Amino acid sequence: MDPLPPQTPREKLEAWLRYYDDLNLGEFYTNRRGERTRPGAPAAEIAPSAPSPMPAAPPAAPAIPSAARKATVPAPPVLPVLDAPSLFESIDRVEGDTLERIRQGLGDCTRCRLRKHRNNIVFGQGNPRAELVFVGEGPGHDEDMQGLAFVGRAGKLLTQMIEAMGLTREGVYICNVVKCRPPENRKPEDDEMATCSPFLLRQLDVIKPKAIVCLGATAAQALLKTKDSISRYRGVWFDYRGAKLLATYHPAYLLRNPNAKPDVWKDLQKVMALLGLKASKPPR
Ligand code: URA
Repeated sequence: MDPLPPQTPREKLEAWLRYYDDLNLGEFYTNRRGERTRPGAPAAEIAPSAPSPMPAAPPAAPAIPSAARKATVPAPPVLPVLDAPSLFESIDRVEGDTLERIRQGLGDCTRCRLRKHRNNIVFGQGNPRAELVFVGEGPGHDEDMQGLAFVGRAGKLLTQMIEAMGLTREGVYICNVVKCRPPENRKPEDDEMATCSPFLLRQLDVIKPKAIVCLGATAAQALLKTKDSISRYRGVWFDYRGAKLLATYHPAYLLRNPNAKPDVWKDLQKVMALLGLKASKPPR
């Protein structure tokens, strides 16, 4: 089946940039932080602060001998480095946005098939000025019944993790990539995540946390726009929409694989160091 044509302004722009890259027009965009950015690279706003798990950029266009270039190609302008959102970030930022507006905009959502089985939309909850946001995959049964994120068994473990960091659930913000429960707790489909994630991005832009922790591969893959396995970049910091983003294992995975808890605790300690929090006991 053919892939869906680009729909959002961002997808359309990315498609144009890929097209220009296919034409070998080379690098023509420099992002606002002064990092060279290639069209087709995985999402321009992602600047891994540690070794990148992303695929290498496509090979550069053949080099033009410098003498010939002098004669034919004017030197590229040196763009000022501005402390402002990149082109991609600006596209989906909503001026004057608030969590209430986002919730209102979501309404009694019927944008995707997940509407059919849900009991409640699970928008997310917590401190609207949180320095730390946890992003999970999507509501499960308990969350769907209560309209609250992470309130089931995995949620209880998440609460222990948060408290071991010296924080409370009320002090952080907790939400998911999709706001409605996928039937049988299946993984959300790509189109469901694409439909719902603009609301998540707006939530992140309004809250402006210092750190975003993706719980599990689905959240990480949705935000980082990668299909790479979480094992390739778990515990690695990324610069993401003005925040630091790190992916760790999902608490539901930890319930099935308690041996992975020390890895997650290591990741959370990185988050604590970033937020200037004192280490306490690791969660049991
Ligand atoms: N798993 C998730 O990813 N999110 C929830 O809210 C609950 C369980």
